[in-house]
Amino acid sequence: MKQLNIHTHHYDAQSDAIQVLSLEALDFLALSCSGVSVGAESSLKSVDEARPAAVRSAFENYAAGFPSNVYFSVGIHPWKAASVEARSLLDDSGAFTQASLEAFRSLLQHPRVVLMGEIGLDKLCDAPYEQQLILFQQQLRLAAALKKPVILHVVKAMDDVLALHKRFASDIPVWIIHGFRGNAQQAQQYLRHGFRLSFGPHHQAAALNACPPDRRFFETDDEEPTSGQK
Ligand SMILES: [Zn+2]
Repeated sequence: MKQLNIHTHHYDAQSDAIQVLSLEALDFLALSCSGVSVGAESSLKSVDEARPAAVRSAFENYAAGFPSNVYFSVGIHPWKAASVEARSLLDDSGAFTQASLEAFRSLLQHPRVVLMGEIGLDKLCDAPYEQQLILFQQQLRLAAALKKPVILHVVKAMDDVLALHKRFASDIPVWIIHGFRGNAQQAQQYLRHGFRLSFGPHHQAAALNACPPDRRFFETDDEEPTSGQK
């Protein structure tokens, strides 16, 4: 039986699994949404219009470098919520600008992008929590519009995630908690609400046992050699 590795940041050509490689959406979106200097109002409009196609072709070039058993998840990690790149995608009211929304949408609609993520909330990281909430909600809204499954990074923020799940669950078909490290009770709480759980190297055996086979995934969460722990 072919294995599925639902979440890794590092492509492994030796692996016998179908891999879902998680990418930072900012790497593609920043390319078209920042660092563009234009003078006249009219040329600004044409740059905005060109963004979705530019993002899509950057991703297509990237994806073409991987064999067909590699799929992708794309999202903005909560650790990056306060970054200059992430903030450049939002307007003053905290909503995605039209240009960034269209660019993000074009990325997520690529046939090899099967998940949005990892997105989520992390109360232990440096990024201000308010900013994380804004970005997470914006991404959930986009996932809902596209009916895209999401894969979530959640640290000490289960209550807020359950509340947002309640709001968006009817439009987002699948919610996966990535790298689930909680105990059996926490697993059951998520399962009761319809979540799926993805277990990596640091899971608790009792939680894994509490999760029915049709609700669980496995992941390696391998890192790119140069990047930090995600
Ligand atoms: Zn990860």
